[in-house]
Amino acid sequence: MSIASSSKISSDLRKQFNERFGNRARFDEPLAPYVAYGVGGPADVLVFPKTEDELSWIAHISREHSLPITTIGTGTNLLVRDGGIRGIVLSIRDTFTDIQILGKEDGCTKIRCGGGVEKPTLLNWAVERGYGGLVFSSGVPGTIGGGIFMNAGTKYGCYGDILTRLRLFDFEAGGREYARNELHFGYRHQSHITAKTLVAWVDFSLPDADPAEMRAEVERIIEERAAKQPLDYPSCGSTFKNPEGFSAGRLVEKAGLKGRRSGGAEISNKHANFILNKDRARASDILDLIQMVQSEVYSKFGVQLECEVVVVGEEPYAQN
Ligand SMILES: Cc1cc2nc3c(=O)[nH]c(=O)nc-3n(C[C@H](O)[C@H](O)[C@H](O)COP(=O)(O)OP(=O)(O)OC[C@H]3O[C@@H](n4cnc5c(N)ncnc54)[C@H](O)[C@@H]3O)c2cc1C
Repeated sequence: MSIASSSKISSDLRKQFNERFGNRARFDEPLAPYVAYGVGGPADVLVFPKTEDELSWIAHISREHSLPITTIGTGTNLLVRDGGIRGIVLSIRDTFTDIQILGKEDGCTKIRCGGGVEKPTLLNWAVERGYGGLVFSSGVPGTIGGGIFMNAGTKYGCYGDILTRLRLFDFEAGGREYARNELHFGYRHQSHITAKTLVAWVDFSLPDADPAEMRAEVERIIEERAAKQPLDYPSCGSTFKNPEGFSAGRLVEKAGLKGRRSGGAEISNKHANFILNKDRARASDILDLIQMVQSEVYSKFGVQLECEVVVVGEEPYAQN
């Protein structure tokens, strides 16, 4: 039995992608190198669009050929199944990467940041210039688009706290801007961004702050995280959201699951909410551990753990 992908991209459609995007469209492209876990099967086509016009073309092709669209950032919160992702996968990590200063008001600098900008890049850029507000994100990887989708954050804050406006590209309805008061942000949750929309850019309002003080605080937070988190092996950070009133990691630890393995994946001994790719794991190894933890924690404590990691793609298609 061999494992094959069931790509739906016809040769005529490949030609159209090639004409429009050149080497920015890659067919049957393995996704493992593009995601933090380093696991997962291929995308039928992985595209790196540069403009909203290109997004409109992709949206049109998606509708015409019934091809689903999946957006990925840097895959630091994404588990791609071993069969890969059918349809069109978009990455804007190398393209929507402008950071612009819009102006200053009441001791705050307003900036516009592309959805593909990586969080550490934005943090360093802001700290160098004396723009505060982003120190909470020290040590958090991924793109700003992925960070807004997840409302990523730490005990020091989250992106929803500093966002003032954003532009979403909706694959059905096109681009639209939203003011902060039209949006709701909660714990690893927000109201408007779905799998059918892409964060094109975000405006932040950043209060003036001292670069040296911020640098020291960034270093302190990064050290604090390194002391608690297993950063030597690939992971997606916290696997489960903290249920109301509980720490997910503590529940996993109390269930006696630290160090449990499935194939090449392991529940970290250092931080029980991290599942690591310890040794050439497959996505199915990680998924097995996720399901095992959910079932053990539920049977021991009656608490249903919700996955924070976004799982996409399909199981391998078996060919005889
Ligand atoms: C070591 C480690 C530590 C971490 N620590 C933290 C932490 O402290 N706090 C925290 O909140 N998270 C943490 N994470 C998780 C992760 O870094 C964040 O969730 C991050 O925001 C994901 O960004 P990404 O670009 O990698 O998104 P991806 O993982 O690629 O995608 C995540 C989701 O966002 C969507 N998405 C990505 N880009 C866009 C876009 N432009 N428009 C619309 N949707 C988009 C994807 O479709 C997917 O559903 C950690 C991860 C690791 C590996």
